[in-house]
Amino acid sequence: MGVNWKHLIKRLADRGAEYADVRYVPKEENDTLFMWNGNLIAFDRSEERGYGVRVLVDGAWGFAASSSDEEAEAVFDRAFDNAAAASKRSRRPIRLADKDIVKARFESPCGIDPFEVPLLERVAVMKDIDSALQHKDVPQRVVSINTTRKTIRYFDSEGAEIEKYIIEIFPAIQVGAFDSEGVMQQRGYRPPRLGPTRGWEVMNKEHWKRESDRVLSELFEVIAAPVCPSERCSVILMPDMMFLQVHETIGHALELDRILGYELSYAGGSFVRLDDFGKLQYGSEKLNVRADATLVNSPGSFGFDDDGVAAKNRMLIENGILTGAITSRQMVMEANDRAGREIFPDSGGTSRACAFYRVPIERMTNINVDPGEDGTLEDIIKDTERGVILSGERSWSIGSTREQFHFATDIGWLVEDGEKKGALRNCTYEGMTLDFYRSLSKVGDESTWEVQYVDNCGKGAPSQEMQLGHGVPVCRFDNVKVGE
Ligand SMILES: [Zn+2]
Repeated sequence: MGVNWKHLIKRLADRGAEYADVRYVPKEENDTLFMWNGNLIAFDRSEERGYGVRVLVDGAWGFAASSSDEEAEAVFDRAFDNAAAASKRSRRPIRLADKDIVKARFESPCGIDPFEVPLLERVAVMKDIDSALQHKDVPQRVVSINTTRKTIRYFDSEGAEIEKYIIEIFPAIQVGAFDSEGVMQQRGYRPPRLGPTRGWEVMNKEHWKRESDRVLSELFEVIAAPVCPSERCSVILMPDMMFLQVHETIGHALELDRILGYELSYAGGSFVRLDDFGKLQYGSEKLNVRADATLVNSPGSFGFDDDGVAAKNRMLIENGILTGAITSRQMVMEANDRAGREIFPDSGGTSRACAFYRVPIERMTNINVDPGEDGTLEDIIKDTERGVILSGERSWSIGSTREQFHFATDIGWLVEDGEKKGALRNCTYEGMTLDFYRSLSKVGDESTWEVQYVDNCGKGAPSQEMQLGHGVPVCRFDNVKVGE
């Protein structure tokens, strides 16, 4: 016997709730396979089911969650009572922006369901990749594959009924070896989302052989390379570094709950103020950034958010000017109210919870930089007098309001007089967020654009890990501090 969710929501409305929704997860499965130097040292499988109820009473939220169907009525009542108790202490009544009411289903595009591939076969594929990475001078090899499969059913008191069926796969490789000074250098690879589907088909043998060979040869380049010079010059960020730059200094900075002061953990604040929308010059005229949850194949595309709002494609930065944010129904109302003007017409559809027992908060979808008109990577190199091409995120450190940053990369290559020269190791670069984006001088075309992903973005207290994407081209920034 299933629970009648719609009936339980109606009961809350009858008790006087202004709004209520339930997210029911009949099944969520996660497999984590981790191979180290050819040995499968971790195989974690988790499975969970349950539901979370959110209720708005007298302008305040209440939440409760459980895995027990038997106690569903009591859990709904507890969420109501929590809201009623919270409303006695709330200073600003919560209101929700209007939305279109949908009854719909979303399914992530998937060729071969990874959970249907026998475990031994999955391990054999990892073994194959591991063999391609083997070398006597490489003491560390990692091959990992994380997969998720889940169904989420959503109902709310406004009449929305949504089902989502999502399959995700996150494979990665990394190798490490010591340089002449005894420092461990690394090179890794996670496949960008270029194909139309996400499923076991991404484990294509030839693809991984080719990428494994490249990763290994670039590791040998970097351990033999001179140290990155310390100077100011151009930096050309490859997509596998540009995505992290965008993630940390545009994505997180533009989450509206941070801007309003609600999210302060994990380098939580934002330097952006409500006054800035429509006028802050975030970057050069070449910078166009959007939150696009409609991309066909990305973990940041999920059909409908956990407020029941359909996926949107919204500009955040247009020709360098800040125009939008990462928004939910609740935060746009408060922001417009506090600003005394309508900055945001409606929700951007970015409200997501990582599990049934967490409340939805504003999360990045696909925070993308539009491709530009400065040609291919080769064209950009040809036009660069002196610079460094940087690839592969190695470490990062961010100012507490995202106003500055310092990143290290796996590898770099020197560019002199329009030519790509040898590799560099210990590459780092740093800057002030706005100065950096204002120095954006080249944006690569479609041929350089890739959808990279983040499978472990942390936010919130209690913490919520989320998956999302970044479609980014190769970009060049000028007069940037590189090296120590
Ligand atoms: Zn993050």
